[in-house]
Amino acid sequence: MRQRSRIILYAPSAAITARPDLLDRVAERYDLRSVIIRSPDRTAFELVRERDLDALWLAPGLWGDGQQPATNRAVFPSVPGWDASLHPAYERQFPMQCPNSPGFAGELGAYYAQTANALGATGVFATHQRYHHPANLEHLWGCICPNCWVTAAQTGLDVGEVSNFWRALAHKLAKLPAEQWAQVPVMASTNPLIDWWAALTDMDFPLRWFAWKNTSIESHMLRVRAAFEAGAPKLAFAANCFEPLLAPLVGNAPTTQRSSIWYAPLLGYWSHHVHGSLENLAAWHLILSSQGTRDSILQALATLLGVGAALNDAAHGIRQELYLGAAQAAQLGMEYYPVLNGTIANQYGGTASQFSLAEGLDLAEKLGAAGVIVQGISQLLDDALLDFWY
Ligand SMILES: [Zn+2]
Repeated sequence: MRQRSRIILYAPSAAITARPDLLDRVAERYDLRSVIIRSPDRTAFELVRERDLDALWLAPGLWGDGQQPATNRAVFPSVPGWDASLHPAYERQFPMQCPNSPGFAGELGAYYAQTANALGATGVFATHQRYHHPANLEHLWGCICPNCWVTAAQTGLDVGEVSNFWRALAHKLAKLPAEQWAQVPVMASTNPLIDWWAALTDMDFPLRWFAWKNTSIESHMLRVRAAFEAGAPKLAFAANCFEPLLAPLVGNAPTTQRSSIWYAPLLGYWSHHVHGSLENLAAWHLILSSQGTRDSILQALATLLGVGAALNDAAHGIRQELYLGAAQAAQLGMEYYPVLNGTIANQYGGTASQFSLAEGLDLAEKLGAAGVIVQGISQLLDDALLDFWY
């Protein structure tokens, strides 16, 4: 293992206050620069700052921990054929605020500044600045609140067009066996699945719909940062974002990340971010198409997205996304800080391969990453007991 990889570490504040010596142990072996502290506890921030490390607060975004100001709750449609009770999606449990709510971004940014100042933080690392993972089908086709009708109309989009698209998609799927999906001629534009929906239905609606959703998130993040900087002008504004493979589906297309100081895609949640989402997208396409099997449709979707080999091998998928993220960061001209978790395991069968953090650090360095954000301290200290405690 490389001894001096540049590391940023996620840590709960209780872990830091109970065992601050662990930070020293990590710093002996790695070039530890910053700690992202999950909860606002001033003592934890002091213990990190005392060690000449940056102390970033993991600030809640559009959904997550219920601490956000409740300005305007997002509204999602019921999706034809979709039964969420049959296909649970982990993130569905969290209510979301609408990114187009006029007052919300300003309130959130001010809340970040006030909290970061009070904690003595060196900055914020904003999380959940996006819609839920695509496993939650409702979030693909919302928000449809009155504010969203207005902002969509400004881009020439009518939110009501979504039901025409669903009808066209079902109609086309009913006539095309999954084995032939990859033969549809597609113009590469934004994301392989969005492009394929557009090509299959011969409608530009999916392109315009997801462009609007990504613009909504981008503009929300810019407004959050502006309000944050007004209240905390010297502090850093960073954010994480979704897995590059599916990011445009949740409003996190790479260009939406320009307000962050880094490009930091989350690559440690392959099973529920990517595989779980493909499972639910396959279930929905199966219902819409009224033909085929779950397996043939899952395979067809994975083929469209170029992840067939990774479907049952999470480690393979994470490697693929490390490369994809590096290309996106280079295109954006931003520093690349992939967020890795070396203990990821397959939750959907397939081979039991695990992604090793040591390999991730090496590969990230080879790909020109500025550093790696690590989600588990045990993986850095070779101590299996730490994760239990941590
Ligand atoms: Zn809305």
